[in-house]
Amino acid sequence: MKHFELIVVGAGPAGIAAATAAARCGCRVLLLDDNHAPGGQIWRTGQEPSANKPVTSTENRRATALRRLTACGAKLLLGARVFDVPSPNVLQAITESLASNAPELHTLHYDKLILATGARERFLPFPGWTLPGVFGPGGLQALVKGGFDVRNKRIAVAGSGPLLLAVAAHLRQDGAHIVSISEQASTTQLLSFALSLLAHPAKLREGLHFRSILRGSPYRLGCWPVAALADAHGNLTAVRLTNGKKTWDESCDLLACGFHLIPNTELPALLGCTLNNGFVQVDAQQRTTVPNVFCIGEPTGIGGLDAALIQGEIAGLTCAGKPTSALASRAAAGERFTAALARAFRLRPELRSLAAPETLVCRCEDVPFSALAPRTSWTDAKLQTRCGMGPCQGRICGPAVETLFGWTPKSIRPPLSPVPVGALFLPPNSSDSQPVFTKEHQ
Ligand SMILES: Cc1cc2nc3c(=O)[nH]c(=O)nc-3n(C[C@H](O)[C@H](O)[C@H](O)COP(=O)(O)OP(=O)(O)OC[C@H]3O[C@@H](n4cnc5c(N)ncnc54)[C@H](O)[C@@H]3O)c2cc1C
Repeated sequence: MKHFELIVVGAGPAGIAAATAAARCGCRVLLLDDNHAPGGQIWRTGQEPSANKPVTSTENRRATALRRLTACGAKLLLGARVFDVPSPNVLQAITESLASNAPELHTLHYDKLILATGARERFLPFPGWTLPGVFGPGGLQALVKGGFDVRNKRIAVAGSGPLLLAVAAHLRQDGAHIVSISEQASTTQLLSFALSLLAHPAKLREGLHFRSILRGSPYRLGCWPVAALADAHGNLTAVRLTNGKKTWDESCDLLACGFHLIPNTELPALLGCTLNNGFVQVDAQQRTTVPNVFCIGEPTGIGGLDAALIQGEIAGLTCAGKPTSALASRAAAGERFTAALARAFRLRPELRSLAAPETLVCRCEDVPFSALAPRTSWTDAKLQTRCGMGPCQGRICGPAVETLFGWTPKSIRPPLSPVPVGALFLPPNSSDSQPVFTKEHQ
């Protein structure tokens, strides 16, 4: 059992900001993440920018944050997934040694806990969405950062959210041909979002920068995918798009399709934190409804990088007993941006009727729409069809089922993610014998 004054789960921008702020004030902090490098989604490491690509402000901010993290004295436990909360103030995490593939179990005790578990992409089922060649935009971007070559590939980007433009611009810079970007939100919604950006000039500049990179690629509003089409060998050939009035096919080699983001609230829910409209309820200091448990970043509202950073700093300082009033106006700006995003990218009702009877909704357990339609609740669907009981444990189909049928899971149970059974029987002190803590971030 290892004991820390503060444990931060999730080393994305929010978690890094929290751990750094608290450790700089003298707290004994452990920052852990299931990735093998800190940075979360937006600062995911991969191929460094090539010499002929300009270094972006995102890369500068990442480098500064990682430099501060290295200097602050917080310990890092990377490649570690928290999967259970066996008793109050105790977390269980599992790591897999890269060298031996052997799992190691870590029992970690905390006085205070900050949850910075981020968000994931939302997928909605439509005919062909499980074809090879159909990716989530963020997932495709992560693959490309890991070396997947998209040069000269024709990529259609579709779905919803600001991530579509960010990813399309990234793919273009990596040599892809972006055939089109289709945003389901209406022109009216997007116009009012664009106006709200006047209060956030840096974000407005960022959006215009993406548009300038994407010159020549149409950005269609009020337009959404209805099917991904394949040839006789099952290879993706095109995406069928509609604007509600007409429908057309657009040829592509790859389709990047996701419908904005949904928060990772499983761990907060397992700890008993109250959720409001699917997000973790926090006060101005990022305290949840559970004593000594804080939550920051995307689980409290999809608000982007700036909101994640400021919330992280506030939670870290609060845990260290320091005042945060000087940060209140930046936090309020983050909240306004979060609300504007939620308004702009709310889903249109037509997306609920894209699935055909044979369209898979749960791709882990091969459950088609027709098997779910007669069911009455999430529990009924699980019992009768195994929907949500495969390796992703409902992370992908759960939000789709909620959008399609309005069902939400009644309870969250450990393990939060698949864990090898053998790992659960490892000797309790096994984690102490391994050199698991590292400060090598890059
Ligand atoms: C796939 C994807 C791609 C994105 N790409 C961009 C982009 O290109 N540009 C942009 O502006 N924004 C992007 N975003 C949005 C961006 O992530 C947010 O705006 C913001 O940076 C969120 O920061 P965060 O620290 O709250 O969460 P994240 O950056 O998501 O960090 C959360 C971290 O917690 C870890 N974690 C979660 N649960 C556990 C657990 N149980 N145990 C251990 N670790 C855990 C995750 O692995 C992750 O590293 C992307 C989001 C997603 C989901």
